[in-house]
Amino acid sequence: MHPPTVTEPTHDEAHGGALGERLNWLRAAVLGANDGIVSTAGLVVGVAGATDDRSALLTAGLAGLLAGSMSMAAGEYVSVSTQRDSEMAALALEKRELREQPDAELEELTDLLEERGLSRDVAREAAVQLTERDALRAHARVELGIDPDELTNPWHAAWASFLAFTAGALLPLLAMVLPPEDWRLPVTVGSVLVALACTGWSSARLGAAKPGRAVVRNVGGGAVAMGVTYAAGSLLGAAGV
Ligand SMILES: [Zn+2]
Repeated sequence: MHPPTVTEPTHDEAHGGALGERLNWLRAAVLGANDGIVSTAGLVVGVAGATDDRSALLTAGLAGLLAGSMSMAAGEYVSVSTQRDSEMAALALEKRELREQPDAELEELTDLLEERGLSRDVAREAAVQLTERDALRAHARVELGIDPDELTNPWHAAWASFLAFTAGALLPLLAMVLPPEDWRLPVTVGSVLVALACTGWSSARLGAAKPGRAVVRNVGGGAVAMGVTYAAGSLLGAAGV
């Protein structure tokens, strides 16, 4: 699963846009950590169903952490790169249109501003001023909903995903390998469920949704994941595989 890192051009109040973008990033980080918690918890709990061997648990957990975080990073890199490519292409097209048909572009900008509630005369005046100052930027923001100075960097997005997933994955990994043998499962299951309640609550709040149901769904999903992998691990262990 890849969290939405794309800036949604739904509202572009000068400050609301930047805040919205920051919240999107924060929410993506919480969801990335959530992925790390669930997948690594499922993995180590499953292996714990089959074996008591601490080094096997550590190896499996660490491999899961690395595989998951790199997969998240690569997926994020690809998706943000594609997004960026299409934004650059749109900007290049806009640049050409501005060069080849400046009058039609001025008309277009005027129309767009008028649609947003300005009177014809004011829209015209605003379009002229915006065009004089920085025509491409004005068209990028009003027409395309993107800020040419703040295109998402694919490497930043990839790193953010990698770190978020890793931070989440460390919890079940450490909870499984640090405590004494009898405490492994209860500590892991307990701390994972608490952590999932926190990430479910935060992501709902950041998305301006009611947290109650999100917490129940998130904790329930994690509990099912651990239950299924534990059952599978136990069956394999009992079968001597
Ligand atoms: Zn245009």
